[in-house]
Amino acid sequence: MQRNIRLLDDQNHSLGTIKITLPNYCPWCHSKISPSIASQTRYDDSNRESPISLVLLCPSCYNHFLQTYKVIFDRNWQITNLEMSNEKPMPKTSFAYPSKIDSISEEFGKIITESSNAEGLGFNHLAGIGYRKALEFLVKDYLIKLESEDSAKISKLPLSQCIAKIKDSRMNDLALAATWIGNDETHYVRKHTDKDIEDLKKFLHTLTNLVNFEISISEANDFINNN
Ligand SMILES: [Zn+2]
Repeated sequence: MQRNIRLLDDQNHSLGTIKITLPNYCPWCHSKISPSIASQTRYDDSNRESPISLVLLCPSCYNHFLQTYKVIFDRNWQITNLEMSNEKPMPKTSFAYPSKIDSISEEFGKIITESSNAEGLGFNHLAGIGYRKALEFLVKDYLIKLESEDSAKISKLPLSQCIAKIKDSRMNDLALAATWIGNDETHYVRKHTDKDIEDLKKFLHTLTNLVNFEISISEANDFINNN
């Protein structure tokens, strides 16, 4: 639904009217709605990155919600459009790992971010399943990229059989311990009642550090062999 709004700058001067699209869905009661505008922020001329936000009122449940718009300009810095932004603030990522891991596993980082966000929002069951999935990607990508195992074969193999292929006993222990706790996160009955998601994260984190060492050693080997 479109609506004309009057834009004001931070000195309360009118910048004319502009057409905007209002959301037609209430995030509180999930009704299809035509919200009314309770208030709006002014345009800050000193910071062109700053958005315009509207506080909207749902006519169905009478709750307020916020809608933000990115300000779009033409070549002469005239405002041409307000583009609805659907970005949402996310909790701070609580699982840090060495960035080199991203060079061997593209998916690991994505799964960790989602799991960490789920944990930050209090969705601990989903976070546990997510960390278990991240572990599987780390182990499989490690075997494929650093141990030159066959990608098609490893992809289909159960995680326990993949872990058995890891030659380094320290990595083997960490992956196995993390898997046992991770399996508890996905199954109906918890076998290891004295361990929880924090232990799973601790073992997974140490595993990422050892994989990080392996990546650096492999880079050094490649350098020596090519000179
Ligand atoms: Zn509502």
